[in-house]
Parts: sequence; C-alpha cells; structure tokens
Amino acid sequence: MCIFCKIVSREIPAYVLYEDQDTLAILDISQVTRGHTLILPKVHYDDFRQADDETLAKCVAVAKRLADALESAYAPLGFNLLTNCGEAAGQSVGHLHFHLIPRYDETDGLTLRFKGTEKPDLQKIQADILKKK
Ligand code: AMP
Ligand code: ZN
Repeated sequence: MCIFCKIVSREIPAYVLYEDQDTLAILDISQVTRGHTLILPKVHYDDFRQADDETLAKCVAVAKRLADALESAYAPLGFNLLTNCGEAAGQSVGHLHFHLIPRYDETDGLTLRFKGTEKPDLQKIQADILKKK
C-alpha cells in the first residue's frame, strides 16, 4: 500500500485539514511555504492522467475551499496549485495529489521558473500536437 493510502486508512498519521467521502487534504510534511497543503483522492490513482474527470474536479474544488481557509489564516499574496506527474516532473509519491502552496514573497521556499525557448515555431508545434490527436 502506498504512503498516501496509509494516510487515508489512518495507518500513519497526518495533519488533516479537510475530509469528505472522496477526498482528503493534509499538511505537507515538508512545508515548502507556511500552510503547504496536499489534496488527494481517497482512491489510489498513480497520477492525474490515470484519474477520472470527476475525481480531478473534486480535488480542485477542495483546493479552492482550502485556499479560502489559508487566506484567512496567513493572508498569502498568492497561491500555486500544481500536480507533478512522473519522476521527471518531480513526482516522488505515486498517488495523485495536488500541492496547494501559499506564496508570500520571492524569498519563500518555492522557485518556479518558466524559461522560454528562443523563437519557438508555434505553428509547427501546434501541427505536431494536433495531428497526433
Ligand atoms: P511530489 O514530489 O509531488 O510527489 O510530492 C510529494 C509530497 O509529499 C512532498 O512534498 C512530501 O513532502 C510529501 N510527503 C511525503 N510523505 C508525507 C507524509 N507522510 N505526510 C505528509 N506529506 C508527505
Ligand atoms: Zn495510494
């Protein structure tokens, strides 16, 4: 059983912020920023590509609700909501989860940088992707 399934079944403890029939939200043990929260479905899916649309929608709805609670608690300046899929993307726990990360300033614990490609051929990239659909 994976570590998050063990948290769902209460075999290992966690700081639970929210729970309903389908979803659990807990404090991330690493606290990249204050209030860093994980939202996960109770049913095991490896990642977002394996999950059904309804499960994904429920997780995002819970994230929205918890953002309100985090805003009341800590008045962050913004949030990142993200899910890692695959080791190459930084996924370390193979049970779908969304990180809800309150942001405070540029010196907080998270650096996200989108480094653009110089002169990308957007037309070709669009064609590449669409013809594979
Ligand atoms: P990811 O790298 O996207 O798979 O994120 C996994 C996250 O799970 C990391 O941010 C870890 O700090 C967090 N994590 C791992 N074990 C636990 C645990 N027992 N309780 C809470 N968070 C955990
Ligand atoms: Zn699991």
